[in-house]
Amino acid sequence: MSRKFDQELQDRLVRYAAIDSQSDENSSTTPSTDCQFDMLNLLVDELRDIGAADVQLTDYGVVLATIPGTRPGPTVGFLAHVDTAPQFNASGVKPRVIQGYNGGDISFPDNPDLVLSPDANPYLASKQGEDIITASGLTLLGGDDKAGVAIIMTMARHLLDNPDLPRPTLRIAFTPDEEIGRGVGPQLPRHLQADFAYTLDGGEVGEIIYESFSADRAVVRIKGVSIHPGQAKEKMVNAAHLAAKIVQTLPQATMTPETTDGREGFLHVTDMNGGSSEMELKLILRDFEREGLEDKGDLLRQVCAAVQAGEPRAEISVEITPQYRNMRYWLEEDMTPVELARDACRAHGIEPVSTPIRGGTDGSRLTELGVPTPNIFTGMQEIHGPLEWISVQDMARATEVCLTLAQMAAKQD
Ligand SMILES: [Zn+2]
Repeated sequence: MSRKFDQELQDRLVRYAAIDSQSDENSSTTPSTDCQFDMLNLLVDELRDIGAADVQLTDYGVVLATIPGTRPGPTVGFLAHVDTAPQFNASGVKPRVIQGYNGGDISFPDNPDLVLSPDANPYLASKQGEDIITASGLTLLGGDDKAGVAIIMTMARHLLDNPDLPRPTLRIAFTPDEEIGRGVGPQLPRHLQADFAYTLDGGEVGEIIYESFSADRAVVRIKGVSIHPGQAKEKMVNAAHLAAKIVQTLPQATMTPETTDGREGFLHVTDMNGGSSEMELKLILRDFEREGLEDKGDLLRQVCAAVQAGEPRAEISVEITPQYRNMRYWLEEDMTPVELARDACRAHGIEPVSTPIRGGTDGSRLTELGVPTPNIFTGMQEIHGPLEWISVQDMARATEVCLTLAQMAAKQD
């Protein structure tokens, strides 16, 4: 593989990762945090500088742009998200580059206790000689998904510098708030104007993913009977006790995130808030199949109904809201976008792998809204934590695959 994109990708990721752009699910604004505008506005400027057309920041916080086509063919979208995960410290990221990784343990300048070891990490062991980017030990890196942003920007810059390269019209979208499941609003498909698209938001080289979880969220509200504890005999109904009973009755040795993998789904209690008079439980429900997801919703309702039946003076309600659906349901009807990405991998000697991801992407929702959008690898590893790392050469492989994909999407003349 040529090294012609390495320096640009490295510079871009280092530049983008240093910008705070964490999302916040407790915020109701769009984007959820103002700091995401620092990334969005920078990308608007950079897209204009490299000569992209139709550069626009929408009022719902998505940057859109066009790479004009040189051949007929379908319009192909490329997406990455600018926000970083709320689960870990993502402020003041200090990216650093390890040139020509020697294959040993990697230590962190700001956190002597932290070690990234190839023994625990076979993929890292395979990256000897490559250039590795990490944070400094106190924050995540945010290669999820600024690696995707860097790859798309590098591809765009290269195509705009080389107007003779065959490609159909390409559309670019940089979204906010993917990590809190709010990256794709209902207007995006109409504004994106793509026949199909790809998110650059995957891990190991070769990943071409078209199966994600189907996801619902649930809120359980419990209203007890509140009264002065000194006069409470046979009158008080403590909502905290009922909440505990519900959590205790839900499966714990099975059907939780910590006891499942592969194709198994789960129920996950994410939040428990309130007091003796009122409690609120938040849960997420996940399964690869619609039936499995419905079963988990039914189970939650049954448990709540049983606790309600034992204490008729309480008021217990369950509200279940859909989040996204397995994109396979739509993609398996027309596998063209998946096959195109797989062929582009093979053209570079990369064997494509399609394992279902235990999560969702912006593509899950976009696919459901009519724009088939599988997910392509970027190289990002150990995301959402201080050990996050990525190989510059993996990003270069993704860039080459995307360029080949764009070329293959163009109709031959
Ligand atoms: Zn991501």
